[in-house]
Amino acid sequence: MTYDRNNIFAKILRGDIPCKKILENDYALAFYDINPQAPTHALVIPKGEYVSFDDFSAKASNEEITMFIRSVGEVARQLNAPMDGFRLIANAGLNGGQEVPHFHIHILAGRRLGRMVAAA
Ligand code: AMP
Repeated sequence: MTYDRNNIFAKILRGDIPCKKILENDYALAFYDINPQAPTHALVIPKGEYVSFDDFSAKASNEEITMFIRSVGEVARQLNAPMDGFRLIANAGLNGGQEVPHFHIHILAGRRLGRMVAAA
């Protein structure tokens, strides 16, 4: 799958669309989800052009992967998510329910999150 430079997160990275920023460094940008599914719902995206977890894990450099994962942890701590527990989600592709084709990790916290997967 080729990367679509017009996807909404690409526009946020370029500054064409605003976001409620939580953290930014050379490797990652974190911001609040526009449609929160929990009291705390953040998104962390890599700065590089990766469509999905599959793409990122296969093509990103070790440095990008390391620094991205460290950034996810930093955001979770900044939001106090580890205190009562949290969930990370990376939807990928059609069956995964991915809507935005720029790899992202959801950080959800602030309430009991229930079942890991919705019943079929
Ligand atoms: P996914 O289904 O994993 O691709 O999740 C995409 C997420 O992006 C959804 O939770 C949306 O609510 C969120 N989203 C879409 N547009 C924006 C936006 N402009 N700012 C923040 N979050 C967004």
